[in-house]
Amino acid sequence: MEVSFGKEIESLRLGAGDTFHGEGILAITKALLQSGVAYVGGYQGAPVSHLLDVMVQARPYLDELGVHVEACSNEASAAAMLGASIHYPLRGAVTWKSIVGTNVAADALSNLCSPGVTGGALIVVGEDYGEGASVIQERTHAFALKSSMCLLDPRPDLAVMTRMVEHGFRLSEASNMPAILELRIRACHVRGSFEARDNVPPPVSTRALMENPAGFDYMRLAHPPVTFRHEKLKGEQRLPAARQYILDNQLNELFPGRHDDVGIIVQGGVYNALVRSLQQLGLADAFGATEIPLLVLNVTYPLVPEQVADFCAGKRAVLVVEEGQPEFIEQEIATLLRRRDVQARLHGKDLLPSGGEYTVEVLATGLTQFAARYLPDAADEEASRWLAANLERRQAAAAALAKPLPVRPPGFCVGCPERPVFSALKLAQQQIGNVHIAADIGCHAFGTFEPFSMGHSILGYGMSLASRAGVSPMMQRRTLAIMGDGGFWHNGLLTGVQSALFNGDDAVLLIFKNGYTSATGTQEILSTPAEDAKFNAADKGKSLVHTNQTIESALKGLGVQWLRTVHTYEVEKMRATLTEAFTSPFDGLKVIVAEGECQLERQRRLKPWLASLLQKGERVVRVKYGVDEDVCNGDHACIRLSGCPTLTLKDNPDPLKVDPVATVIDGCVGCGLCGANAHAATLCPSFYRAEVVQNPKWHERLFHSFRRAVVRALQPA
Ligand code: SF4
Ligand code: SF4
Repeated sequence: MEVSFGKEIESLRLGAGDTFHGEGILAITKALLQSGVAYVGGYQGAPVSHLLDVMVQARPYLDELGVHVEACSNEASAAAMLGASIHYPLRGAVTWKSIVGTNVAADALSNLCSPGVTGGALIVVGEDYGEGASVIQERTHAFALKSSMCLLDPRPDLAVMTRMVEHGFRLSEASNMPAILELRIRACHVRGSFEARDNVPPPVSTRALMENPAGFDYMRLAHPPVTFRHEKLKGEQRLPAARQYILDNQLNELFPGRHDDVGIIVQGGVYNALVRSLQQLGLADAFGATEIPLLVLNVTYPLVPEQVADFCAGKRAVLVVEEGQPEFIEQEIATLLRRRDVQARLHGKDLLPSGGEYTVEVLATGLTQFAARYLPDAADEEASRWLAANLERRQAAAAALAKPLPVRPPGFCVGCPERPVFSALKLAQQQIGNVHIAADIGCHAFGTFEPFSMGHSILGYGMSLASRAGVSPMMQRRTLAIMGDGGFWHNGLLTGVQSALFNGDDAVLLIFKNGYTSATGTQEILSTPAEDAKFNAADKGKSLVHTNQTIESALKGLGVQWLRTVHTYEVEKMRATLTEAFTSPFDGLKVIVAEGECQLERQRRLKPWLASLLQKGERVVRVKYGVDEDVCNGDHACIRLSGCPTLTLKDNPDPLKVDPVATVIDGCVGCGLCGANAHAATLCPSFYRAEVVQNPKWHERLFHSFRRAVVRALQPA
């Protein structure tokens, strides 16, 4: 059961005369349909998960249009899907999170870019860069440069963003180069509106099938000797064609300003922050009218040399605002200005930081220096005071706290099935000693935070088992690799399991089988329990391929001989199984499948069902755990073993004791871990399990009244 996107799907049906209101990423989704896209694929990941989630759930409507949607197994398969546009006049779009997804897709992208495309190929990447990022900080720009792909970086305004989708396809077709549409986190979530157009059913589609395959054409293969020709085509034909298209269609925007002896060249995606900081300096008004001329690059690769040179000609100085490093754009501009002998002084990374998100304050700091140097009369003193005041405010706040605030890292959801496994692992290591733990991408990466702090490395999605291959042979104790079922299907099965089996590695792999790729938004996967896996069946009438046993079956099929499936909440059994895996005489790969449904999904399913029972007046039992404050000895071992946010502290009711006692607050979902931990670690007997009965039966009410009367009678007056 995934989140339902019914409202969003409705907005995909808007047509000419309607105004679309909503988030940036949904606007992009709508623009794909307005552009006559024939097929859509991708792999989910913030901040672009929404695009694929909505498309997958909109399948019945997309079927009406003849658009095919594929939830790909990873980014490499999504990139390879674009191969459809090499021969055929099919517009295709795929999406993923970058930089990580682009790394995974790199091989297929290179092989796509070499022969080039006939139909427009658009890759919508969520550039997960800056303050809200969850991955390594690198730039997709490098891939556009190395493989020769157009790179669109639209100004975060829904009308511009959707226009760039439509131009992206045409640019790709005009140049035969695939195009990347780069969306920063803020652009994905920016809200606004644009005038919708009718969706365009693709001329070749699932409803209008091609009669014959394309003829054989060696030029369309990424294979020597034609790859040498492809390299020439990139430089001699494709890039010039792309530049011409960019110029002819004015994809980059020029904003004039009265100080025309200076200028700023900015990536489209950073435009909003730049204009806001110009406003702070008194160099732009509230509507964005700027006093310094701007060249806004909605296409950051390829640059159009004549356009940049024309903009810079006759200016004393130009500032390049380019987020991230290395400064690819600035370097290219420096080269092209030098070659054309344009004498404008070039600034960029000398005034702005080399890395990190360009927030309004960061930009204002660099702009202040630029303005002080070239526009001393125009620079607003108010702005310098504003910047200085911000700094003072921050310093004062830090001083007032006396010491830094405790860090608040993210953690497992309340009742998460993965938490008990880390409790068990803690207990197992108490027994056998610490082991090297190769961690992975997914919710289980929260195990690297307190109170577990487990994991030595993270090398990529599904890469944990592969990443311990060099460690295992050097270590007295066996190593442990942890991955989720999402990572297992994304990459782990082949990259890790196959390699470990082939090399006869003696290692332990723990797979979290919670039924979904939870960390990216609980999307369904091959091993999602059949009753929940609906998208394949619902709209196609096909039987479900999902079974709950596919991970174990796949492992057995590959030849894994030591395989155990343990329910995650059975802490004692999990501890014993881990200990067995680390100490067993079996020499080879040992796999433990830790089974327990993602609690987030479980609650999504249970809550409406329980609410409907309550509404009908039916009996509902809710399990809750609690701590007897008179018994709790205040050592907090339970908290160090669990980390559940609803297991917390409160003041000790005993005036003679200073240590706070443990307590369970109302959010407890009764997962049972508290009881299991108390048993497995032989903790103090202060935990109790209570059943909260709503709409009780008559005999339960009667029994309850009797019990209360007895308790009252036993209590001193
Ligand atoms: S989303 Fe699911 S798997 Fe992830 S932390 Fe929450 S309960 Fe655990
Ligand atoms: S039983 Fe314990 S671990 Fe589970 S949700 Fe309640 S407080 Fe948290």
